[in-house]
Amino acid sequence: MAALTAIAGAHVLTMDPALGEIPGGTVLIDGPTIASVGPEPPPQGAARVVDGRGCALLPGLVNCHNHAAMALLRGHGADLPLMRWLQEAIWPAEERLTGEDVYWGTLLACAEMLRAGTTAFADMYFWMDDAARAVAESGMRGVLSRGMAGRSLEEAADFCRRWQGGAEGRVTTMIAPHAEYTCPEPFLREAAAAARELGVPVHVHASETAGEVAACRERHGGRSPVRVLADCGLFDGPALAAHCVHVDAGDIALLAERGVAVAHNPVSNCKLASGVAPVEALLSGGVTVGVGTDGPASTDALGMWEELRLAGWLAKVRGGDAAALPARRILEMATRDGARALGLGEACGRIAPGLRADLVLVRLDGPHLTPHPDLPAGLVYSARDADVDSVWVDGRLLVRGGEVLSVDLQRARAEVTARAARLLRA
Ligand SMILES: [Zn+2]
Repeated sequence: MAALTAIAGAHVLTMDPALGEIPGGTVLIDGPTIASVGPEPPPQGAARVVDGRGCALLPGLVNCHNHAAMALLRGHGADLPLMRWLQEAIWPAEERLTGEDVYWGTLLACAEMLRAGTTAFADMYFWMDDAARAVAESGMRGVLSRGMAGRSLEEAADFCRRWQGGAEGRVTTMIAPHAEYTCPEPFLREAAAAARELGVPVHVHASETAGEVAACRERHGGRSPVRVLADCGLFDGPALAAHCVHVDAGDIALLAERGVAVAHNPVSNCKLASGVAPVEALLSGGVTVGVGTDGPASTDALGMWEELRLAGWLAKVRGGDAAALPARRILEMATRDGARALGLGEACGRIAPGLRADLVLVRLDGPHLTPHPDLPAGLVYSARDADVDSVWVDGRLLVRGGEVLSVDLQRARAEVTARAARLLRA
C-alpha cells in the first residue's frame, strides 16, 4: 500500500471504451503501472494523494512523428517550401551536427514536450545514441529510429539492437528509411528485410507533397510512394507512415490492408504548404491515424494542443463539413490511437488497470476553458500547453505545477542557444 499514489477528484477521460469518463474519479498508481481507476475516493494509506479537483486527467499525449533534435534548427529557413527548405537551410546545417548537439537538442525538445503534456513520441534522426541518452534522462517514452537517406543501415540496425527495450523499457526502436525520394529501391528492400529480422516496425515519410508523388510516379512507372514502399516490403510488418497528405483511394486501401498507421502532422503540412491530409478518408478506410508535430524546424513548437485544434479545423475545411472529425475522435487519435500507431497500444494510450501510468493532469480553471460543457471539445479547441499541471511517465512525476522536474531547462536552453549559433553560421 505504501508505494501507491492516488490522483483524486479529477474528471478522468480514460479513452478506454469500456471505462469511459469518470467525473471526480480516482486513479491509483502503483510503481510504474496503473493499479485502478474508478469513482471511489482514494484508499486510506495511499502514500501520496494528488488533488485533481478542477482538472482533467487523461492518458499522456502521444506525438507520432518528430525529429526532436531539430530544436537546434528551430525557426531556420522560415517561409521556404519543403524542397528548398531542406536543400538550402536544413541539410547544410545538419552536416555540421555533432552527437552532443543532438543530445542537447533532444533534451530541450523532451522538456518542451513533457511540459505540454506529451509522454511518448516517435523520433527519426541521427546520432541516435545521443538522442536516446537524452530521452532516457528526461524520463519520457521514445520510439526512436536512425533516419536513413540510402545509407547507414548497419548503424541503424546496431542502434535497434542496443536500445530496443532500453531505459527501463521506455525506449523502443524502429527502422527508418527516410522516404522513397531519398532512398533507392534496393536500399528500401534491404531496410524492410532488416526491420523484419530485428522484429521492429518501420518509420518512413510518404506522400508529403504533390511534387514528391508526381516525381515518384515518373520514376516508378506510375506507382505512388505508398505503392513503391509496399512493393519493397516495408509494409509487410508493422509500419508508421508520416504525412500521407497526397494519397488516393488506392493508397488508402493499401495502407488499411497492410495495417500501416499514419502520423498526421497538420502544423508542418500547413507551414510547408504541403496540403491537407485526407484524415476522414483514412479513418473511414480503416487506417489508424495518430497525430505528430514533425520536427521543431518545420513546426516551431512541439505542443500537441495546437496540432489537435488544427487537425479538427483542417478536416472541417477540407470536407466543407463542421461535423467532420469530432473533438472526441481527435483526442482518441492523440492518445489511444497514437499509442497503437507506435506499437505501444498494450502499454499506454488509455487509463486502465495494468497499463503504464503515463498520465497528464490539465487545469481547467483558465478563462479560455471556462466553462467547458463538453470536456473533449474544451480540451481540443481551448487547451494550451500552459494548462498542463502535472505529467507522469511510468508512474514517475516528471512535471509538477507546470515545471519540468527531470531536465535542467535553463542549462538545456543555454546549450541549444550556443550550439544553434554555431550550426547556423554558414
Ligand atoms: Zn518528418
